[in-house]
Amino acid sequence: MEKIEYDAVVIGGGLAGLMSAHEIASAGFKVAVISKVFPTRSHSAAAEGGIAAYIPGNSDPNDNPDYMTYDTVKGGDYLVDQDAAELLSNKSGEIVMLLERWGALFNRQPDGRVAVRYFGGQTYPRTRFVGDKTGMALLHTLFERTSGLNVDFYNEWFSLDLVTDDKKVAGIVAMQMKTLTPFFFKTKAVVLATGGMGMLYRHTTNSYINTGDGFGIALRAGAALKDPEFVQFHPTALYPSDVLISEAARGEGAILKNIKGERFMTRYAPKKLDLAPRDIVSRAIITEIKEGRGFPGGYVGLDLTHLGEEYIKERLALAVEAAKSFAGVDAFTEPIPVRPAQHYYMGGIDVDIEGRNPDIVGLFSAGEAACVSVHGANRLGSNSLLDTLVFGQVTGRAVVQFLKSNSSNPTSNYEKEAEKVVDDAYKLVKSESGVHFGQILEKLRDTMWDYVGIYRDEGGLLNAMSEINKLRGMISNMYVTDKSKVYNTEFFNALELRNMLDLAFVIAKSALERKESRGAHYRTDYPDRDDNNWLKHTIAYLRGNTVEVTFKPVKITRWKPEPRVY
Ligand SMILES: Cc1cc2nc3c(=O)[nH]c(=O)nc-3n(C[C@H](O)[C@H](O)[C@H](O)COP(=O)(O)OP(=O)(O)OC[C@H]3O[C@@H](n4cnc5c(N)ncnc54)[C@H](O)[C@@H]3O)c2cc1C
Repeated sequence: MEKIEYDAVVIGGGLAGLMSAHEIASAGFKVAVISKVFPTRSHSAAAEGGIAAYIPGNSDPNDNPDYMTYDTVKGGDYLVDQDAAELLSNKSGEIVMLLERWGALFNRQPDGRVAVRYFGGQTYPRTRFVGDKTGMALLHTLFERTSGLNVDFYNEWFSLDLVTDDKKVAGIVAMQMKTLTPFFFKTKAVVLATGGMGMLYRHTTNSYINTGDGFGIALRAGAALKDPEFVQFHPTALYPSDVLISEAARGEGAILKNIKGERFMTRYAPKKLDLAPRDIVSRAIITEIKEGRGFPGGYVGLDLTHLGEEYIKERLALAVEAAKSFAGVDAFTEPIPVRPAQHYYMGGIDVDIEGRNPDIVGLFSAGEAACVSVHGANRLGSNSLLDTLVFGQVTGRAVVQFLKSNSSNPTSNYEKEAEKVVDDAYKLVKSESGVHFGQILEKLRDTMWDYVGIYRDEGGLLNAMSEINKLRGMISNMYVTDKSKVYNTEFFNALELRNMLDLAFVIAKSALERKESRGAHYRTDYPDRDDNNWLKHTIAYLRGNTVEVTFKPVKITRWKPEPRVY
């Protein structure tokens, strides 16, 4: 197998990966970015609504970074590490203005200051935006910026597994997707910035590529996931296609209505109404539907009509376009049909406030793949783009420190270990008959949606565990129809499925363990938050066919847990 050596390898060309690579390369180190799609096609490009930031002189005069931290902590139902949330808020203005200086021009108020809109759970409006293509603007800007540095891009390359030596990173094996040629990337530092995992669920707003590969890679290498049971469901995915209708719509004044025309959020969040955090609004919609006040087929209406055609066109063009193209609805004159769908993963690879994983020396993670934890049990809208940039930068800088203090190079060649990674991958797809991988995938997505979704209980989670166990057993006997060596996407889909199954198993087990309701984790058999027993992070390891669950304390600085009412 061909071998190539780098100081550091970043897996992922989204905002988090590029920001880390930018920092590492700026310090003079040689870095590779491996991405299974061209970087600007990463899911970061899909973000419409905006990025939260407190910008001094450019924010509500009553606002300050402490309010932002408080909103993030309360939004996360007190499972947030408060030192991390403080860092996020304190750095928010600086990082947004840095991206603007690099070329991402934010919308303006008439007086020239950066425009803001409300997003769910914010005491004062803090969300900054570039029309309704914020993620696209940030990603293109950062890609251009990073391309000018000493960074080698491996686009359309798929990472399989880490190679470690005595709990130290020795490298990573990746395959060129065009030719199925494997390479061993020898390196001391790997940053997993592989994004989210929406494809685990039947209904998701995520891209087809969001299959949680980084979680599978980390788990198989012996690293833990933190808070894996916390999965976010966005309240307003278009019915029936699940295309996201951004929270910006409600931020700009859109109202959720049931079949009777009632503004039902008055019952669930009397003060914040439609702009309560996502977990609360998602449960409210499901409750309306379950109690017979939804529209036939199972959805509610998102009404923009009172905002006026001009304003809607200026601020929410993508929502209008999606409603027209994918639901045949004219959003200027009728409500958009919406229902909740999986949207974001609060859980992730266990890292400290500088992106370091404590289990494997040289392993780092940032962005949606990581759990710092800054979003706790429920992420506030527009805090994720911010997280990718702030912690992408912090993590890149931590990698630089690590490289400076670890100058010796591993001597071994790790050829055997790298070969084994490739053999293991081929073993998964060697069968000529048995089960097609697509059947296992469909079953998994239904299982997760039905039993590990918005509402959970012990019986359902036990069902999910046993089903996922069965599916994990079946992948050793699955097949792909395409046997060619040229752009064999089926082969990579099958490898993604292995990652999805490993992750699903850990999510279901952790959800079963947590006997309380907090943020997005809602147990109908334990409907209350229980701070006495459960104000702690889940730390979960995959050990073959079992999941080992331990716990870590939550870092509380200034904000003591209080009831979460909106
Ligand atoms: C529709 C939508 C709208 C959103 N809107 C907003 C918003 O308005 N505001 C906000 O704050 N957040 C928003 N979010 C969330 C936010 O966009 C994401 O959480 C964030 O962009 C993730 O960035 P990332 O860099 O961590 O990962 P991503 O941008 O998802 O990038 C992951 C990278 O990893 C690579 N990768 C993955 N697996 C492998 C592998 N096996 N081998 C090689 N490469 C691999 C991919 O190629 C990709 O380059 C939205 C999300 C969605 C889905």
